[in-house]
Amino acid sequence: MTIEKLTNECEKYTTKKELELITRAFDYAQKAHAGQLRKSGESYIQHPLHVAMTLAKMRLDGATISAALLHDVCEDTPITLQEIEKEFGKVIAFLVDSISKLSKVRVRKDITAEAPDQNEPDSFHSFPRQFETLQKMFVAMAQDIRVILVKLADRLHNMETLSYVAPEKQLRIARETLEIYAPMADRLGIGELKGQLEDLAFPYVHPDEYQKLKKIAKHDYPKRLRHIKNVQKAIESELKKNHIDGEVNGRVKHLYSLHNKMKRLDLDQIYDKVALRIIVDSVRDCYAVLGIIHKLWKPLTGRIKDYISMPKPNGYQSIHTTVFCLDGQPTEIQIRTRQMHEQAEFGIASHWHFKTLQTNPSFTKNPDEIAWVRQLAELQNKLTDPGELTEGLKLDFFQNRIFVFTPRGDVHDLPTKATPIDFAFAVHSDLGYHCYGAKVNGKMVTLSHPLQNGDIVEIIPNKKSSPKSDWLNFIKTSEARSNIRQALKAKEASDYNLTRKHK
Ligand code: MN
Repeated sequence: MTIEKLTNECEKYTTKKELELITRAFDYAQKAHAGQLRKSGESYIQHPLHVAMTLAKMRLDGATISAALLHDVCEDTPITLQEIEKEFGKVIAFLVDSISKLSKVRVRKDITAEAPDQNEPDSFHSFPRQFETLQKMFVAMAQDIRVILVKLADRLHNMETLSYVAPEKQLRIARETLEIYAPMADRLGIGELKGQLEDLAFPYVHPDEYQKLKKIAKHDYPKRLRHIKNVQKAIESELKKNHIDGEVNGRVKHLYSLHNKMKRLDLDQIYDKVALRIIVDSVRDCYAVLGIIHKLWKPLTGRIKDYISMPKPNGYQSIHTTVFCLDGQPTEIQIRTRQMHEQAEFGIASHWHFKTLQTNPSFTKNPDEIAWVRQLAELQNKLTDPGELTEGLKLDFFQNRIFVFTPRGDVHDLPTKATPIDFAFAVHSDLGYHCYGAKVNGKMVTLSHPLQNGDIVEIIPNKKSSPKSDWLNFIKTSEARSNIRQALKAKEASDYNLTRKHK
């Protein structure tokens, strides 16, 4: 990797002033790391350059790219944070500082020393153990999402060069990647990065399964790819006939996600081992293409998923359908617009490309589900405005949102000063209806106790307990409010019936 390659990439979207900043950050970092080597034997500057390149492909702003170039300077060289601040200003110094603070957050030694349980499915079951790290990451994200994006890019390059690291460290780092970083990328909707991180960690965490699957894939893929080529040709000519501009791509699925699916299904039942993707210009074309495909081949019932009208919570949009095509082979086809494609690949970061997100009609159809991604996007728009950039380091959105955790490590975002009742309803309406008491970070609190960012909340339910009208005085979410009102009304009605019966 070279600075020229990086600036060529940045040139596609940044201003001249930002390019100068990036070049200056590079020169500074290169001088600071002079003579240092990575474990791979490469000169150290290669690492920050790779990290910056990943972020440049996501079209991140000059401050983020510069912070990526400088991210290891304070930790590995005598240069202090004050010097960075003097040279590059408050925002970049803040980003660099937050990134290095996060690297100090490690899963505790005594925890990872434990041999991983081979029978235990990875990821969420070992969640609580990794919990502290995740908690800190969310708190950092609350301060500035860009910190997390640099962290994810940093982890990607560290995973790419993991083979040079001492074997006893490899497993810890790979597990951490599967349990913390990949889910984090997923939550931010950065599907491509999530897939890459998982595939890089897979051989270290499950070496046997990895070898097995690789063998199967090797045997299976060539014939699947031939099939896809033929389907692709058929679709392309059909699009032409209907005067629709579209790009048709075949793609091999990430190995690790295949591995996850195989826990539930036989390989033969997985239709998206090799998936076909059609990218068109508009939402209207998406549905038109779906019609064309279904006229051409019979769809498999129950496999049509419309994530355009019902986006996934992380903002993902596409239409998926599985059809019996050509020789009757079931094949998964995904249809999406260019913008949806960028969103699926780069998630939250893609909003730098599409600043018109708020006005995009397809995004307003189901506002609740993608609310937090959208609000983030709005903030990112603000952040790219240079006037706002210096104004505050905290994102407004997060100034009135907090992240709160269940004892198992699931995260919920709530408005500030939300109470245990709001939390209970956010977890499950039944838990809200029967909320009786609450513990915050292990201590009993009142039900009106205002929650703080990073709190671990445990709800104590009681079957006989039901919503009280005074809860309405302190709860903060509309979800809790409407649920409580409904419950109170129902109770009133049944009380009335009871009194009538007694008379
Ligand atoms: Mn690093």
